Amino acid sequence: MTSKQVRPLDGAVRTAAGAVRPLSGIRITGGLLHDWQRRNSRATIPHTIEQLRAAGNVANLSRLLEDDPAPYRGRYPFLDTDLYKTLEGLAYELGDGDTSAREFFDEVVGLLERVQAGDGYLNSFFQDPEAAKKPWEDLAWGHELYNLGHLIQAAVAANRRMGDDRLLRVATRFADLAADRFGQSGVCGHPEVEMALVELYRETGERRYLTLAAAFVDRRGTGQMEHRIFPAEYFQDHVPLRELPSVTGHAVRMAYLAAGAADVFLETGDRSLFETLERLWDDMVATKLYVTGGLGSRHSDEAIGDRYELPSERAYTETCAAIGVMQWAWRMFLASGAAKYLDVFERVLYNAYAVGLSAEGTAFFYDNPLQRRPDHAQRSGSEDGGEPLRRAWFTCPCCPPNIVRWMAQLADYVAAERDGAVLITTYTQAEIRTAELDLAMETAYPWDGDVRIAVERAPEGPYGLVLRVPGWAGNVTVTVNGEPCRAPESGGWLTLHRTWSPGDEVRLTLPMPVRAHGSHPHLDATRGALSLARGPIVYCVEQHDSPQAPVDDLLVGAHDVVNAHTERRDEAVVLRLEADAAPPPSAELYPELPLHEALPETRVVATFVPYFLWGNRGPQAMRVWVRTPWTNGKKAS
Ligand SMILES: [Zn+2]
Repeated sequence: MTSKQVRPLDGAVRTAAGAVRPLSGIRITGGLLHDWQRRNSRATIPHTIEQLRAAGNVANLSRLLEDDPAPYRGRYPFLDTDLYKTLEGLAYELGDGDTSAREFFDEVVGLLERVQAGDGYLNSFFQDPEAAKKPWEDLAWGHELYNLGHLIQAAVAANRRMGDDRLLRVATRFADLAADRFGQSGVCGHPEVEMALVELYRETGERRYLTLAAAFVDRRGTGQMEHRIFPAEYFQDHVPLRELPSVTGHAVRMAYLAAGAADVFLETGDRSLFETLERLWDDMVATKLYVTGGLGSRHSDEAIGDRYELPSERAYTETCAAIGVMQWAWRMFLASGAAKYLDVFERVLYNAYAVGLSAEGTAFFYDNPLQRRPDHAQRSGSEDGGEPLRRAWFTCPCCPPNIVRWMAQLADYVAAERDGAVLITTYTQAEIRTAELDLAMETAYPWDGDVRIAVERAPEGPYGLVLRVPGWAGNVTVTVNGEPCRAPESGGWLTLHRTWSPGDEVRLTLPMPVRAHGSHPHLDATRGALSLARGPIVYCVEQHDSPQAPVDDLLVGAHDVVNAHTERRDEAVVLRLEADAAPPPSAELYPELPLHEALPETRVVATFVPYFLWGNRGPQAMRVWVRTPWTNGKKAS
């Protein structure tokens, strides 16, 4: 296995062991993802910058340049990362020519250059002369390498996208210090730096960063991570990663660790590491992911929970965990070329991730439940999570700037390449430019499954255009220049291999009927209930849209799903259907079951909206899972 990294002409990174390579020459030009990106640059980024200034994240750095620094503001030692994540997002924006946040970018980079210590150390919490702890004194909770990780990711983005290496020089000095300090032992309580060090290796060719990332992956599991509240499992330190039976502990830490390990595999080709990740992934998808793609069912310790422990109203599913799962999914796809990882990527993108942000782009959920009970919806707010509505900011604001950087880089996930072929991984209106060919993709996906791909530039000989067939899609058709094409589908891909000419048009049709999903019988929380989906979008019903019956009384049967209508509401597709209203037969909490008596039911109309749009019209009850008389494909007697 070669360890040499090669930078192809288009600027994409060629990994040593990946089956597929990422592309960087992609622009999203229209549709939902484009709307999201525009909202990010026009609303979420200005809001985030304002909040970072108001909360003291910028002042935490600038005060260190004064003789008698003001106290550190904020409760946590990782608040610099919220600046780093924002800078990473800005690097994409500024690289694309949007210069509105240039001043903030330059200001923060300038501060970081000046605040960095002579030995390369950088952390505004620990550099405080009055800090309660010394640098590197508390690896379990200090988050210093987690900080470094986000600094590196921002620096690599700025270097790649903007050709601006100021931050890379800062990050490299800190990374060198860490490589000296942690060459033999030590690991951070919060994984993140593993992904970043592999990226820094790709960017600089300096192998010690890759070696350190691989060491960090394998150093966990000694049970030595100590914290007064959290057990070793919280830190994924109770068992070595390669021996973990299942994803566990703090959800964001777990997903970041797995994504970092996948990056290590991509450069080292360590098969046993990849086999571990495949095993953990398959188990997670089969037993621990919400239907929305959310990961982490427990508020307590922000933990993943046991297999099939997936309650709806207390679902934690932190927005950052959603981003972590997408990062892991994308790397597993790069490693294997397997489409199954993209099915999860897409499910998370349009549901567990997108729900974290309000429609106007300036308020956020930290935790993302799949149900709001009517009485909870009336609460004024609570610090234990589960506020009725999204908030402008948080004491621990990890999610908002994470949303920002991910929104800004969505174009990176639209397509990939391997020798002799380009693979379309996400359907959206986009321009795709590779060293071999230019494509223009037009579609109203995810609202519509019609995709047109025009070839604008093509290589001389035969070349592959490989189209992803989502796991939910059936009866897919494809034409080339209007002629039906019987391309064989294999493992979630349709491969068109031919000599292309400019002007050729490929048309892919992915039918999008309304689907009903049930639950595994061991998943007690949603057994006997159904959730609705169409294409990659998971739906929910809010009380506003069920005026004739409480959402908790709705009883949706198979025929109701078959007869559901789709309608446009604003830009989104909503589902309108008739259902039974079945109020509780008695007020008793545990009534004896009536064995013969039919429950009184009346017919009502309800509208289901995309789950990611819930909570934008005031506090109210909401459900993703609704009751159904139809279980295991049969109507219950
Ligand atoms: Zn978060």
